[in-house]
Amino acid sequence: MISGHRLSKGDYDHRHLNTDEIWQELSILFSSRSRNSASYKYGFFKSILDNLYNVDDDMKLTFDQLFGKFAEIYWNLVTKYRIAQMPAGKSAAVVTVINDFVQKNNIMAGIPFESLTDDQKITLQTKVKNKCKQNVVGALYGDTGCIFYAFDKKEEWIRINPQVYSYVCKRKTALEKLNYYEWAKYLEKVNTEETTVNLLSKLDESSKRSNLSVYRQILFDEFESRQCFYCGRPLREDGIQVDHFIPWAFIKDDKLWNMVLSCRNCNNKKRDKLAPDIYLRKLVTRNKDIQMHYYKEGIRKFSQSIDLRGSEEMKNYRPGGLMQIYTYARENGYNEIWTP
Ligand SMILES: [Zn+2]
Repeated sequence: MISGHRLSKGDYDHRHLNTDEIWQELSILFSSRSRNSASYKYGFFKSILDNLYNVDDDMKLTFDQLFGKFAEIYWNLVTKYRIAQMPAGKSAAVVTVINDFVQKNNIMAGIPFESLTDDQKITLQTKVKNKCKQNVVGALYGDTGCIFYAFDKKEEWIRINPQVYSYVCKRKTALEKLNYYEWAKYLEKVNTEETTVNLLSKLDESSKRSNLSVYRQILFDEFESRQCFYCGRPLREDGIQVDHFIPWAFIKDDKLWNMVLSCRNCNNKKRDKLAPDIYLRKLVTRNKDIQMHYYKEGIRKFSQSIDLRGSEEMKNYRPGGLMQIYTYARENGYNEIWTP
């Protein structure tokens, strides 16, 4: 195992790996052999898992994507749930950045990340990125035996090894649970009993947003989706629900290509289940329309920030990718099908 945190860039090992070899390296992260003592590696591993389906054609994730999640996760753990990340008297760099930001901006105690303004989010994410990229990226690289990803701190990206990518996608839920377990075990040592009540749920929901109204705005107002995606009944303004087509519990991310509008009834019944294949194809068609729209708009330049956000979220979308994620969801245990 190498100490990777000082490296400015690194490539992954290109040899062919069988599943045993991949597991041998990844499991170091969850063992006592791992070098890091802070909670970073768990938080950064979660940032990668939450971003797994946002890779571009080259398997790259940018530091903005990764540290965007990282900042959100730690913001909620630190300010919303008050969970310490290091023993008393010590402060993790990310916590220092967050606390400074709270003070400077007079932010009310306990507010969730999603309630910050867009400007505040970007400022905070950039600060967290600049402070944490030095140690975190190279450290996890070293802790996973240099097989997981290549990285470049100057160009600010990681590129996931395709062999490890498909390994992780097929076992995402299990790896995520293992990560929470080890993370929780670490956090229990540095926190009081009261703070760690429901700790696993707090970790799991540290990047969950409850306000999805932006998707309602995009889909209902911009794209005039006026019927429930599932049952086809007309949507009443007061009963519109934003639904993750592939359940949030699996995907842990909000992106326009996975968002549909539904009636209350369908949303309540669907929960963490998958809809049948025919709805997957319907979503692929719907997404194609959205892409076409943004393609045409792109020529005229976006006038509204909401369009900009929508088109940004469609950037790395591929229909084949969506179908693959649907299969991954089933392989990870989301195999209960709900038919409207
Ligand atoms: Zn419905």
